[in-house]
Amino acid sequence: MTFDLDLIKKTYSQFPAKTEKARKLLGRPLTLAEKILYVHATDIPSSAFVRGKDYVDFHPDRVAMQDATAQMALLQFMSAGIPKVAVPSTAHCDHLIQAEIGADKDLATANEKNKEVYEFLASVSNKYGIGFWKPGAGIIHQVVLENYAFPGGMMIGTDSHTPNAGGLGMVAIGVGGADAVDVMAGMSWELKFPKLIGVHLKGKLGGWTSAKDVILALAGILTVKGGTGAIVEYFGEGTKSISCTGKGTICNMGAEIGATTSIFPYDEKMAGYLRATDRADIAELANGIADCLQADSEIVLDPSKYYDEVIEIDLDTLEPHINGPFTPDKAWKLSEFAKAVKENNYPEELKVALIGSCTNSSYEDIDRSAGLASQALLKNLKAKSQFTITPGSEVVRATIERDGQLDKLEKIGGVVLANACGPCIGQWKRNDIKKGDRNSIITSFNRNFAARNDSNPETYAFVASPEIVTALALAGSLTFNPKTDYLENEKGEKVKLDEPKGDELPRAGFLKDEHGYTSPASDGSKIQVNISEASDRLQALAPFAKWDGKDIIDAPLLLKAKGKCTTDHISMAGPWLKFRGHLDNISNNMFIGAINAFNEKANSIKNQLTGGYDEVPNVARNYKAQGLGWIVVGDENYGEGSSREHAAMEPRWLGGRAIIVKSFARIHETNLKKQGMLPLTFTNSADYDKIQEDDKLSIIGLIDLAPGKQVKLVIKHKDSSQDEIQLNHTFNESQIAWFKAGSALNLIASKSKVGV
Ligand code: SF4
Repeated sequence: MTFDLDLIKKTYSQFPAKTEKARKLLGRPLTLAEKILYVHATDIPSSAFVRGKDYVDFHPDRVAMQDATAQMALLQFMSAGIPKVAVPSTAHCDHLIQAEIGADKDLATANEKNKEVYEFLASVSNKYGIGFWKPGAGIIHQVVLENYAFPGGMMIGTDSHTPNAGGLGMVAIGVGGADAVDVMAGMSWELKFPKLIGVHLKGKLGGWTSAKDVILALAGILTVKGGTGAIVEYFGEGTKSISCTGKGTICNMGAEIGATTSIFPYDEKMAGYLRATDRADIAELANGIADCLQADSEIVLDPSKYYDEVIEIDLDTLEPHINGPFTPDKAWKLSEFAKAVKENNYPEELKVALIGSCTNSSYEDIDRSAGLASQALLKNLKAKSQFTITPGSEVVRATIERDGQLDKLEKIGGVVLANACGPCIGQWKRNDIKKGDRNSIITSFNRNFAARNDSNPETYAFVASPEIVTALALAGSLTFNPKTDYLENEKGEKVKLDEPKGDELPRAGFLKDEHGYTSPASDGSKIQVNISEASDRLQALAPFAKWDGKDIIDAPLLLKAKGKCTTDHISMAGPWLKFRGHLDNISNNMFIGAINAFNEKANSIKNQLTGGYDEVPNVARNYKAQGLGWIVVGDENYGEGSSREHAAMEPRWLGGRAIIVKSFARIHETNLKKQGMLPLTFTNSADYDKIQEDDKLSIIGLIDLAPGKQVKLVIKHKDSSQDEIQLNHTFNESQIAWFKAGSALNLIASKSKVGV
């Protein structure tokens, strides 16, 4: 058994009393998301949480990590000195497997290339009580849906498509590694109480339309930013016609509209999926509190009274959609797409059609696509474009092999790839085109930003349901509409495809994956986690130094950043991702995207010691070698973007002491505090202009650092003149303790040593 039934029982036992308390507090019925959030809040205060405003501490039930992000999260966890994770947690090897030839060969290559990382993740998981899913076992979100998601639960995951678990009624949220570390260490996790968007599904899915089309249509309505800061909650009769895995697809792609997460109410489809995946006992428990696992009945009758925004989608009339290129919110109805292709001069020939991924690789998805493949074989059709199938898990792969779907898909020309992310995340070694060749592909994945799949910015990537992708593979053209158009078969005859059909769940049950999962040791105390000193991908973390108890005096200005300085500008992605487990190596990307306010250039700053200009990481390393802590000054909303702990760790590692800006993106501000840095803001934004290139900066008042109390910045200019200004901070008492300890982890470590 890989799930923890006692934990689920404990969570469910809290629903009746806590939801009743929240109902009284709010004086009105509750939505489903509100119920789950109030149940998981560490404390329900005397006044209700204000949506979009109040920061609330939660205790999630689970943590899930994918291999790329797990490396730094687990390195940090190790340095906390805690013997075992405080909540059930799992690590999944899926992102680092490159797709090139086919499942077996690609998996063998990945095992060789990433051996060191996999061995590290396996041993650290074993030691600290984390379930380990090996390469080839499946993609994190599919494996979580099959094994761990449960209605009414709350989970955080170090991947942006964690909300996939909303298909099983869970509030599941993508976070950065530092958040995962906190929760695994037993701390609470903070989130701004989200706004709520209600999506009323009417009618019933049918014909060529599938669950994917619900979210493709919604992306067109809300755009890539429309869900920001909100939970998308689906309700209405229409939800009942969508399979559990179809609901997962819809929730998965809520990430594409920026939603915090998405969620469906508990229903018979979820119960059926739980039973089919060997979790009948969870279905029983959920049935026992079924009323708590959906919005109160009054909500559905007058939704606009309770949600911040309500959108209606009629499944009876919903058309299949094709979204793209280059953005998932460019939504086209199938009937209008051929015209759009011609009018916009998109490359009409379809080069590659790809089905599967964490988004769309359920038994139902593959069965419906294989049904089309069966028709194709009977009607003498083969795929005209390249055609790949990425199963989401070994459970699905083995089952669709047994039940014959894979055979049919291969017979029309399909190539089965490893149960991994592969072409969805740029891990695709494409040999059919050169970089720069203009071409079209269509996938049943979720993201289609330029160069995401194959690193080629000239690849026009479109997103659609697996059924539409399969039909277009048979046509080899983007302009084919399977609802209305005919295809010419190998005998020169005109043939038409019938509507796709498929089973939601395998009639003979799912096959089990006996080899993909390793349970952690019950006592990991004797297990050694080995990290080679010579490794360029992994580096053990040494604790950051404690605060020396003094003010910061005459620190050189490293960089005055101008304009946008997101976590991407601070710690770039792309080729740097392979160093995610090696803080020193990845620090060579620190601030290389930020614009220097004095010369308007990226990665070119003055070294105050030499007077010459150099790259930012080099100058920082030079100061660090001389024992000089440095300071960065920034503009508005500094640190916006994904919650990447590297963007806070790198400055700390290379000797940064403080970041002083006009304003912070809150998550990054907290991340800086966690790493022992001082995030400070100008009391008067115009003081930003007082900072000059050769300034030396002193921060006075740290000895008396207290919540709400300003500190003083003394700015010494090159001409010996000086300015004195006040700076604000948002440290509370416990965060001040992080600063004094050198980092939040140092504090946890010191407490855990006391406790051991
Ligand atoms: S398949 Fe794609 S979207 Fe899904 S987890 Fe992997 S990279 Fe992310």
